[in-house]
Amino acid sequence: MKPVCVLGNGQLGRMMRQAGEPLGIAVYPVGLDAEPESVPFHNSVITAEIERWPETALTRELADHAAFVNRDIFPRLADRLTQKQLLDSLNLATAPWQLLARADEWPHVFASFGELAIVKRRVGGYDGRGQWRLRNGEQQTLPAECYGECIVEQGIHFSGEVSLVGARNAHGKCVFYPLTHNLHQDGILRASVALPQPEATLQQQAEHMLSTIMNTLNYVGVMAMECFIVGDRLLINELAPRVHNSGHWTQNGASISQFELHLRAILDLPLPAPIVEAPAVMVNLIGTDVNTDWLALPLIHLHWYEKEVRSGRKVGHLNLTSATISQLQHTLQALTPLLPAEYHSGLAWAAEKLV
Ligand code: ATP
Ligand code: MG
Ligand code: MG
Repeated sequence: MKPVCVLGNGQLGRMMRQAGEPLGIAVYPVGLDAEPESVPFHNSVITAEIERWPETALTRELADHAAFVNRDIFPRLADRLTQKQLLDSLNLATAPWQLLARADEWPHVFASFGELAIVKRRVGGYDGRGQWRLRNGEQQTLPAECYGECIVEQGIHFSGEVSLVGARNAHGKCVFYPLTHNLHQDGILRASVALPQPEATLQQQAEHMLSTIMNTLNYVGVMAMECFIVGDRLLINELAPRVHNSGHWTQNGASISQFELHLRAILDLPLPAPIVEAPAVMVNLIGTDVNTDWLALPLIHLHWYEKEVRSGRKVGHLNLTSATISQLQHTLQALTPLLPAEYHSGLAWAAEKLV
């Protein structure tokens, strides 16, 4: 099997490497500053765990490498302006938006979007960083350098957030996981719940949207689409051209994990639709030290990234899956005193999603 080089050496590349191992696929996550000579990219398929990268000796070398899958799609999706333009051109529903070019646009912004505007940096934002939630009168607090560098969106009153993780191969075959329900707090993903039988009309809508996007782009690999649920409709929030945090539950809750699915798609290996037989829960570990007491609970799968623990930083996650809902709920309850207070509402949310 061909080796795979992953641009970026964070947790996503690490988990891709772990997924490749049993299949005999050598996966090399590489930092941006790696010496090109030390990276076996010549005979490899190249993918990325990040959406944009600065020019370095390595990225210059990779920039015109023919085996860099989706190379030209990354810049198009990494800029929220061109990403939103793509969704508009495909007539796919998204939160109403415009480029925020000048300060004199504010009266028009509030007149058309209503009371809450969300300003987002065009590039580089993640985990809710690079965003401002503004009500009329608060726009002076926005740094001047934002104009031209940000889009502004309507603040959406959603009943929930879901994401669809899917994959497409070079022959145009698309496969999907069931929708994942996501709880974000302060812009960062706290917990996800996936059910083997998702709501059929939402699942259909989402699969139609994501397959339209992947087919239009001629995309190969795993892509994630984050959505808001408004009534019985989905509005696309954003796209990620890579494996995604809201798909981490698939490591233990699906017959093929999103990491393996991505490797299969980019290496043109068989790509059956993954099978999900039981509900699954994922809890992100954010700025929290590892605690081996979690391992006393038999349903807990700990995925620890071996990163330095810092406030607000994703350092691991816990996956739980079981066909017996009461066992999952019991585990979430038992986990509650083993995690700091800021996790408690997320654990309660997950327990409620399961019924
Ligand atoms: P990620 O880590 O997922 O890449 P991000 O920093 O790119 O996050 P978004 O996904 O755009 O940010 O927003 C983070 C969260 O903020 C969303 O999941 C949602 O909870 C909230 N949010 C974003 N945009 C809106 C909106 N237009 N209306 C209401 N809430 C929003
Ligand atoms: Mg994002
Ligand atoms: Mg997001």
